[in-house]
Amino acid sequence: MMRAVARIDLGAVERNCAHLKSTLRDGAELCAVVKADGYGHGADGCATAALAGGATKLAVATATEAAQIGRRFQHVPLLTMGALTPEDVDVSLSAGSEVAVWRESFRRLLADRARAQGRPARVHVKHDSGMGRLGNPDPAEVLALARACDADPDLELAGIWTHLATADEPDSGFFDEQLDRFAAVADAVKAEFPSVTVHAANSAAVFRDPRSHFDMARCGVAVYGLDPFQGDPAERGLAPALSLCSYVADVKRFAPGDSAGYGQTWRAPVETWVGVLPLGYGDGVRRGLSNNGEVLVRGRRRPLVGTVSMDNVTINLGPETDVEPGDEAVLIGAQDGETILAEEIAARLGTINYEVTCGISARVPRESA
Ligand SMILES: *Cc1c(COP(=O)(O)O)cnc(C)c1O
Repeated sequence: MMRAVARIDLGAVERNCAHLKSTLRDGAELCAVVKADGYGHGADGCATAALAGGATKLAVATATEAAQIGRRFQHVPLLTMGALTPEDVDVSLSAGSEVAVWRESFRRLLADRARAQGRPARVHVKHDSGMGRLGNPDPAEVLALARACDADPDLELAGIWTHLATADEPDSGFFDEQLDRFAAVADAVKAEFPSVTVHAANSAAVFRDPRSHFDMARCGVAVYGLDPFQGDPAERGLAPALSLCSYVADVKRFAPGDSAGYGQTWRAPVETWVGVLPLGYGDGVRRGLSNNGEVLVRGRRRPLVGTVSMDNVTINLGPETDVEPGDEAVLIGAQDGETILAEEIAARLGTINYEVTCGISARVPRESA
């Protein structure tokens, strides 16, 4: 019995990666994205499982994440995808990470820092093909940057890449537009530098269109068994890796009109039993689930009633119940054949599964199984 725990099925992570790898066109590599502590699943364990499942590279967003992963996985190619301050550059490069570049000024800074560290930096030139965030939107500048990286003894041109804005929106024609723009740039770079790794696809793109696979796919959400399209992961051959569990700390009888939680937002309509679970938004159970969510106890869905507070939530067990203090409660995951997916919680909150698992706070221990 634990107050709150996120159980991580590393076997599921491994199988999800094997499935992604088998979905990729022949020869394309799988890069497992383990940023934000593996989307809340624990980066170290998930990276190990992903590599066992066929991933050959890892990616993170920040220099601090690169330092953590680089220390643990010294011989696995690692890419820091995000923008870096000059201090971040030192951290990321000393972690042995490859880095992104899209401006000539930053390319020069990188070369300087790499020279100071005594080891050439491996760089991926980023094309902004329409995401409108990081990357250089000008194809000629992208090609010029690739040439400059290749010519610089302190740099090694490792990749040419982009990021897709609407891969998870099946009706969006912008996906094809971005791919067309990027393919033209990538072809030009590859013609001069045949050994560069061309990459564009996230998880959604892998399932959506093999044309996006190029030499490598950067998969995050699907690695963890979350559906990139916010549907049922099983329909795409993915198995959710995370369960969020707690227990029933107390069970009490409510008379009609008795209220639960701050602000009395719920009152018992009839005589009923209420269970108290000792976790709340301090653990990442979002307050938006107040009177708008369900929890599994003894294999049945139990409505969350009253306001979610920082450290407690209350559930309605009904007029008759066999639920007892000490029973396991499942907020995300399966219990006795019933399942609550992160996708369901995301829909209730008007958000996406990514935010649900990333939001599980550091107060919740991760336990891998
Ligand atoms: C997070 C991220 C990914 C992974 O996306 P998923 O949708 O989780 O597969 C890929 N590329 C970049 C640049 C990212 O920031």
